[in-house]
Amino acid sequence: MLSVKDVQKSFDRFLAVKNANLEVERGEIVAVIGPNGAGKSTLFGLIAGRLAPDKGRIIFKGKDIGGLASYLICRRGLSMSFQIVNVFNRLTVFENVQVSVLSRLRRAFDLITPSKRVAVEETREILKSVGLSNVENRASGSLSHGERKVLEIAIALGANPELLILDEPTAGMAPDETASTIKLLEYLNSDLGLTILFCEHDIELVFSFANRVMVMRQGVSIVQGTPQEVKDNEQVREAYLGGS
Ligand code: ADP
Ligand code: MG
Repeated sequence: MLSVKDVQKSFDRFLAVKNANLEVERGEIVAVIGPNGAGKSTLFGLIAGRLAPDKGRIIFKGKDIGGLASYLICRRGLSMSFQIVNVFNRLTVFENVQVSVLSRLRRAFDLITPSKRVAVEETREILKSVGLSNVENRASGSLSHGERKVLEIAIALGANPELLILDEPTAGMAPDETASTIKLLEYLNSDLGLTILFCEHDIELVFSFANRVMVMRQGVSIVQGTPQEVKDNEQVREAYLGGS
């Protein structure tokens, strides 16, 4: 579904991503792990069209999307929620998701008058699937950090993606919120059929539920494999698990 090949990205002369390779197959949950500064967010920004690569190819469903505008990538079925929570505080939870759904239906707007009603039903479905129905009328600014992170996922779902990309979806969450967010991601994958790519710096968290893991360090993808293959990899053990 997604294939990143020898991608490179620099800021001024600093190489944030030196050489990244990544494969995601339809139906998988794939995690990218690496310490802070490894280049995970930059890589995701490249995949989602926030940044253009200097070199390399990013193939999504058979087409090179490298450097394409993010809204065009989104229309092809790839939607991303960012590490920094990106929510309209003054809108309600419901309205934030509805805006996302409506922006996808934008072209239908001029032609079909009741598209707003369609968006209402779909918005309710999304809120239900992520477990935010009970707070749908709250101002988004009043949510807890964990609820806001889940709202971010709901906003990304408004684009009706095939591939959902999440930058540290559990960052800053309490352990119980982390556990329920992982359950939510498993549900989106198994019940709604979404392919999921996420990044995380907590290595243990990732091994518990990702199908495959890619390890990144200093802008380079060291290895990609099953959690066991990654744990057994010599370079990963040295770089990440402190030898032994
Ligand atoms: P991670 O998400 O793995 O923590 P990032 O991709 O955010 O890593 O950052 C990788 C490196 O690139 C870091 O050293 C960071 O300071 C640098 N970097 C990221 N974005 C920019 C930018 N817009 N301008 C300059 N340097 C950046
Ligand atoms: Mg990051």
